[in-house]
Amino acid sequence: MSLLRVEGLGKSYTADKQILKNINFEIKAEELVSIIGPSGAGKSTLLRCMNRMVEFSEGKIMFNNRDVGSLDKKELRNVRANIGMVFQHYNLVPRLTVIENVLHGRFGYKTTLQGLLGRYTEAEKERAFYLLEKLGIHEHAYKRCDQLSGGQQQRVGICRALIQEPKLILCDEPIASLDPNSSKIIMDLLKSISTEMGITCLVNLHQVDVAKHYSDRIIGLNKGEIVFTGTSHELNEEQ
Ligand code: ADP
Ligand code: ADP
Repeated sequence: MSLLRVEGLGKSYTADKQILKNINFEIKAEELVSIIGPSGAGKSTLLRCMNRMVEFSEGKIMFNNRDVGSLDKKELRNVRANIGMVFQHYNLVPRLTVIENVLHGRFGYKTTLQGLLGRYTEAEKERAFYLLEKLGIHEHAYKRCDQLSGGQQQRVGICRALIQEPKLILCDEPIASLDPNSSKIIMDLLKSISTEMGITCLVNLHQVDVAKHYSDRIIGLNKGEIVFTGTSHELNEEQ
């Protein structure tokens, strides 16, 4: 059964330029699917249409049997709770601790002048710590995020997505700012998130080799159009 189905999707930011044209694809639960293509192809726009961070102008997106385009504000909030996001530049709050950033993914910032952490329940904090442990960064839980390396910050970003208990994680160029070693750690994690936790991952990448190594399927995007869909093996045959 498909978790995500995109039909005839189109998007333009301005009247004179169509950014996405007639996009069609389906993603099954627990797949890791990569979107590859050159800079400016529309990968980021496409990914952000999935949870309406970018509003689309044509076509239809079905997520978990819900018509994403027709949801009202409250329904959209519920659907977004099932979709985690991971960004190229991590999008953490630098002056907050690692564990506070993770807790925010699920429970929002409980801001007070007395500090944040005291406002979360023990169970909430235990859950956050458990995820940090799973991703091997629990020893940094009480450090400020800006004291961590890029690879460590991205693991915090993934924890923040996971604490939502999402069905789908959208990753927009998650390794584009990382060195090869950290990139491998992050891609290995995303792979195990799809295979072991059963969470579907849709990942924008510009490195074809990485996409081939990790993806169940690859979508090739160029100038706003899908130019390829298939497995790594099929992509090899095409090239
Ligand atoms: P990619 O992720 O493949 O690099 P993007 O989706 O970021 O592609 O961008 C595709 C095109 O859409 C680019 O020409 C970019 O300048 C344009 N674009 C992206 N975001 C906006 C925006 N908010 N307003 C106008 N144009 C945008
Ligand atoms: P990043 O690499 O951190 O994702 P980008 O430079 O791709 O940063 O985009 C930063 C923001 O600017 C995004 O929200 C994107 O939608 C927006 N953006 C990109 N291109 C354009 C554009 N041509 N006009 C307006 N906004 C744009």
